[in-house]
Amino acid sequence: MQTVETISFKNKRALIRVDFNVPFDKQFNITDDTRIKAALPTIQKILKEGGSVVLMSHLGRPLKKLKEDGTIDREKFSLKHIIKHLSDLLGKEVKFANDCIDEDSQAMSASLQPGEILLLENTRFYKEEEKGEENFAKKLASHGDIYVNDAFGSAHRAHASTTIVANSFSKENKCFGYLMAAEVANADKVLHKAAKPFTAILGGAKVSDKILIIENLLNIADNIIIGGGMAYTFFKAKGGNIGNSLVEADKLDLALEVLERAKAKGVQILLPEDSIIADKFDNDAVTQISDNMNIPDGWMGLDIGHNAIATFEEVIENSKTILWNGPMGVFEMDNFQNGTKSIALAVADATKNGAFSLVGGGDSVAAVNKFQLADKVSYVSTGGGALLEFFEGKTLPGVAALL
Ligand code: AMP
Repeated sequence: MQTVETISFKNKRALIRVDFNVPFDKQFNITDDTRIKAALPTIQKILKEGGSVVLMSHLGRPLKKLKEDGTIDREKFSLKHIIKHLSDLLGKEVKFANDCIDEDSQAMSASLQPGEILLLENTRFYKEEEKGEENFAKKLASHGDIYVNDAFGSAHRAHASTTIVANSFSKENKCFGYLMAAEVANADKVLHKAAKPFTAILGGAKVSDKILIIENLLNIADNIIIGGGMAYTFFKAKGGNIGNSLVEADKLDLALEVLERAKAKGVQILLPEDSIIADKFDNDAVTQISDNMNIPDGWMGLDIGHNAIATFEEVIENSKTILWNGPMGVFEMDNFQNGTKSIALAVADATKNGAFSLVGGGDSVAAVNKFQLADKVSYVSTGGGALLEFFEGKTLPGVAALL
């Protein structure tokens, strides 16, 4: 596996696919710059070595969110809003090309001097990007001598800038950026080299989003903890009364099948015994504790209960490898955050005692951040969909293209 560490960039132009798909407020202030900061080590390494850098990224979904007159909203989806912040973080001027493949942008990248940086406009202004179109990818490729992919969050997509562009570079001239390399190494450690016992904690809203992961984890995990909204589909399938709790009525058979398969494979699936139930979906709802097989009509489970927490904590604290994806309840509401927070603390404790813990995929990352525990777990992944697909056992096209 080639990484930025194994290639010399002196007097070379590096074309780096970064993930600058950051959120903005209405005045185009960046509200969370985690993704930009995550790309800095790779950029800095190349500049320090005497290379120049051409950055490309997507931002949002400009072709899906057209203006009322049917044209692309080039203001809203422009990467130009990133220039100032990126320049401040790097302490350097960042040049900007108003397009990602036109002649002007080619001239700008061709005249870059060692130590200079050019940011290209949003690759998704072209429909060819998401189609992974070969000619478009070739035009992108002509911006660099070496292709570096540091956008793990987009590695599950066979788009032009994330995958197809790599076809234009020889094996020696393409590599993983630091972030990408770390993401792949950490996910691989859990998926293929997990110290036992290996416990996967899955939560969030829907069974259907997580079913492929559960199926793959049945081959490698010792314990699978299931919490959050998705747990109630399992209780319903087992013949329980779940009141108004979240349920996917068409997934009941699947839920039972998963439980059967786990039994046959000797994998322990732990469902929460009890829940904090509420009379409405509201932080100020009236609450009580309920056994999950007997939730009264009109009530809904919004967090795991104390018995469930105690059981889950014990399993987590005895684990050597932990994968966590998805909250245990509606943690965004303070009155239903206790389950998720307790599990986050248990993962942090296990990590302190030598376990390797990987947290990833959307809301569990938001949860460890909310509880200020991100630095108490072994690794927090930046990849939502990409990480999920990795754990579903799929080959990520953006990763395969670099090998
Ligand atoms: P996901 O994106 O599938 O990981 O789901 C995360 C979302 O699931 C969060 O917004 C949580 O608020 C929500 N969630 C977790 N537990 C429950 C629950 N018991 N009832 C309703 N929503 C839930």
